[in-house]
Amino acid sequence: MIEWKTASAEETMALGERLGKLAQAGWVIGLSGDLGAGKTTFVKGFARGLGCDPAGVTSPTFTFLHVYRGRIPVYHVDLYRLETARQASDLGIDEYLGGDGVALVEWFENVPGWLPQTRLELFLEVTGEDTRKIRVGAKGEGFGKILEEAASWG
Ligand code: ADP
Ligand code: MG
Repeated sequence: MIEWKTASAEETMALGERLGKLAQAGWVIGLSGDLGAGKTTFVKGFARGLGCDPAGVTSPTFTFLHVYRGRIPVYHVDLYRLETARQASDLGIDEYLGGDGVALVEWFENVPGWLPQTRLELFLEVTGEDTRKIRVGAKGEGFGKILEEAASWG
């Protein structure tokens, strides 16, 4: 687990952008943290790093899924209003996980067991009005190098 600290929304976006630049098809990233912690802000930066228009990035709270077109597709999922893997599966968004693009899933902990076992996990914490602590960990193989590099970013 590595830890970043940011002092503005733009700093959080910049971290997302750096990670987005390295993103590869098949990646799945879970984001966890209270409302307002900065999950969507991070996704905005991430999408920017992949060449998507960040202005198009908004919270898919009610629609569950937004797709942004960049170097590879970005599947932006929000499970805030879901509680079970069955509900998630019924939406038909499973197919976007681990496919041709990268999936970023807000509130992933709401639906335990739904995300693939191999994934990145981000835990965002509000530490002040404009400050955030972001812990990043990986499950499964393949993210060692990324984490090593990302440890010095923030
Ligand atoms: P979430 O998706 O976790 O509910 P959002 O990204 O939608 O959170 O909202 C985060 C809010 O906090 C935004 O209004 C953003 O401008 C503000 N903010 C202030 N400081 C930061 C920071 N360091 N990182 C991320 N967002 C921040
Ligand atoms: Mg959000």
